[in-house]
Amino acid sequence: MTHDIAIVGAGICGMCTAISLASDGHRVTLFERDSAPPPGDADAAFFDWQRRGAAQFRHPHAFLGLMCNLIRDHYPELLEQFYAAGARRVGFDEMLPPELKADYVPEPGDDNLWVLMCRRATIETVIRRYVESLDGVEIVNDTQVTGMLTQAPGEPSSNPLNVTGLALRHDGAEAKFTAEIVVDASGRTSRFPRWFAELGREIEEENEDAEIVYYTRHYRLHPGQTEPPRGKRPAAGDLGYLKFGVFPGENRHFAIIICVPVGETELRAAVRRAEQFDRICASIPGVAPWVADDRSEATTEPFGIGDIRAVWRHYAAGDAPVATNFFAVGDAAIRTNPLYGRGCSTSIMHANILAEVLRTTPDPLSRARQFDARTEAELRPIYDASLSEDQRGIRHAQAIVDGRTIDKIDTVKKWFGRAFGDALGAATREQIHVLRGLMRTFHLLEKPGEFLKDKRIKRTVFRYMLRGRKRNAAARLQPGPSRTEMYELLQFDG
Ligand SMILES: Cc1cc2nc3c(=O)[nH]c(=O)nc-3n(C[C@H](O)[C@H](O)[C@H](O)COP(=O)(O)OP(=O)(O)OC[C@H]3O[C@@H](n4cnc5c(N)ncnc54)[C@H](O)[C@@H]3O)c2cc1C
Repeated sequence: MTHDIAIVGAGICGMCTAISLASDGHRVTLFERDSAPPPGDADAAFFDWQRRGAAQFRHPHAFLGLMCNLIRDHYPELLEQFYAAGARRVGFDEMLPPELKADYVPEPGDDNLWVLMCRRATIETVIRRYVESLDGVEIVNDTQVTGMLTQAPGEPSSNPLNVTGLALRHDGAEAKFTAEIVVDASGRTSRFPRWFAELGREIEEENEDAEIVYYTRHYRLHPGQTEPPRGKRPAAGDLGYLKFGVFPGENRHFAIIICVPVGETELRAAVRRAEQFDRICASIPGVAPWVADDRSEATTEPFGIGDIRAVWRHYAAGDAPVATNFFAVGDAAIRTNPLYGRGCSTSIMHANILAEVLRTTPDPLSRARQFDARTEAELRPIYDASLSEDQRGIRHAQAIVDGRTIDKIDTVKKWFGRAFGDALGAATREQIHVLRGLMRTFHLLEKPGEFLKDKRIKRTVFRYMLRGRKRNAAARLQPGPSRTEMYELLQFDG
């Protein structure tokens, strides 16, 4: 059974949902408030495309194994188009530290542990052109969805609302669009919770602040220059009070991110200034070679994005959905901290859950229930793992500001947890089978932490525990200035 489906938002999730649904024969119309990408190459999309609807558009994105494998296995021609636009495959072997690289022997499954690297503008433009070429899919640009059309639920009035279409504004004119199914893929600023509330249906929301601000600056290698070799000093890491990462892009572009706790007011002010941003980068050994004057030049000023939260919106209370023929996917429903790079992959998972549920049953109520149950079963473990990482990061950063040891160890359970964590960290750096396991979690190829059930990995981690915490903890330290040293470097008091 196929349907006329309206999708709100032609961001990454909206477009991937359209691809999944169109391959099942549904007719899809995407409504997008922003304009289409400008004609031209990746640079035109990056520098000139007005993307007010997606605030994260110019921040770097890495696309994890889950998303990449899905594209490779189901849409190989789309993958070819990414490569043609300059996107790069960075495989497991390329990400190995030098000490593991020397003895690396490929194993089955390693080819699933890869990322696709390029600017988000490039990814979006390529997916868009692909979506535009699909039969039965139309993208309507410059059109703001301003509300939803619903049918009265009948008795009792607590029955789910039946969503029947959208209210639109285009060029100042109002219009209505009816659809058999409406999908909200309008991202983090979705208005649907407000529209449901106006109809007496409160959407319950879990909402936790990650208490960080995320800053980016873009650079380009000088002609003839190459990227610095991956060495012992990682180009991404955590100094406790500051997280950093280099994102190699396409066509000699790369970006650097610096994440700072919200409470670090002076540091945040510094990161926003170009010369201070570069000074911070130059002080971190794994990042410094990227920003050396003879290697690269900046192509943008530093810019930031706040309001980094873990958000889960509940469109059903238990077995009782608020609406039928309505589904919220991607950031409109679930958001995690971008530091983990999971948003696009979980969005694609969500889009696939929707396509499968529509295939399974024609009954609107069963569809709403199944969609909610499968979302909980498949996305909740990822959300929970991200949230606990956020909470650990907040505690860690606060302890550094207060000059305390991180997490006082006053119980055997805490001691064991700390010793296990340190042993796992050290084993990950030195033992390739442990790193492989961790990478399966990182790339969302299995439930978070599933690899720790593997007997060989468990044995290795316990063996590392016997080496003693001191030795293992040393492997955890990232090379880079302490907070006090950084404050001195930036010439303000800490
Ligand atoms: C700083 C940052 C860095 C990130 N890095 C990564 C990363 O490395 N890897 C990763 O996988 N994820 C990353 N993410 C997460 C990722 O950006 C999101 O998970 C992903 O974009 C979600 O896609 P979406 O389609 O749901 O939302 P979006 O991509 O935000 O798209 C929503 C779309 O809806 C449109 N829209 C909104 N309202 C309306 C309306 N009323 N009418 C019509 N159109 C509307 C918007 O214009 C937009 O095009 C990052 C996020 C941030 C904030």
